[in-house]
Amino acid sequence: MPRPLIYAANWKMNHGPDAAREFIERFLAVTAPAPDRSLWFFPPSISLAPVSRAVGSRPDILIGAQNVHWEPKGAFTGETSAPMAQEAGARVVLIGHSERRHLFGETDDQVARKAVTTLRAGLVPLVCLGETLAEREGGRTEQVIVRQLEPVLDKVPAADWARLVVAYEPVWAIGTGRNASPDDAAQVHELIRFAVGRRGISGRVPVLYGGSVNAGNVLALLARPELDGVLVGGASLDPDGWAELVGLGMAP
Ligand code: PEP
Repeated sequence: MPRPLIYAANWKMNHGPDAAREFIERFLAVTAPAPDRSLWFFPPSISLAPVSRAVGSRPDILIGAQNVHWEPKGAFTGETSAPMAQEAGARVVLIGHSERRHLFGETDDQVARKAVTTLRAGLVPLVCLGETLAEREGGRTEQVIVRQLEPVLDKVPAADWARLVVAYEPVWAIGTGRNASPDDAAQVHELIRFAVGRRGISGRVPVLYGGSVNAGNVLALLARPELDGVLVGGASLDPDGWAELVGLGMAP
């Protein structure tokens, strides 16, 4: 029996409500649910409700928000809360994506608080971790990953640890066309599981890899059993291309 795989599409600031609905309609027309494959879509927050409606009851698809505030409501102009995302159809939230950390100054502490509020709203946090090129070249990958992960494990109640999902996304691989090698990705995935296991968390935390994944490299990456799926930006923006990528490796 193959292990279950998650294919997550991060659309970033692409596909407004109409384009997002058209994408889903096309994607549904060219794909069918497959056992052991879960498809997660992260549209911009303004497109969450239309995407959720368009997906309907397709059992293999979950909708996610790209970001939420750590408070459930209040005077935070321009922000979206986890309960609001939930109401719009989200079941997952991307937390601490490197663009949030590096372009919007999100701190490790804020990331941890967002994970907590996401769980409180009954949603699954997909927590993104990853080192910059300078950190990797300086031999600090492990230190950075642990530094980013520990505040999440400190703040999230132990009872919720089993609901965490992690994405390893090296910053130098995101949107650059340069993906981590399967060996490098697998090594960091093991490190993440080791850091989680050290806290006494039992079971296998799902860890996805993200960073320039495409139809040409996805099979080599997923051939490594340490990877539980992929988080994909650029290669998820076209419905036919994304359908092809998620269909690779599936039994005909
Ligand atoms: C991402 O946005 O999470 C990502 C991995 O982007 P890309 O696939 O374009 O590198």
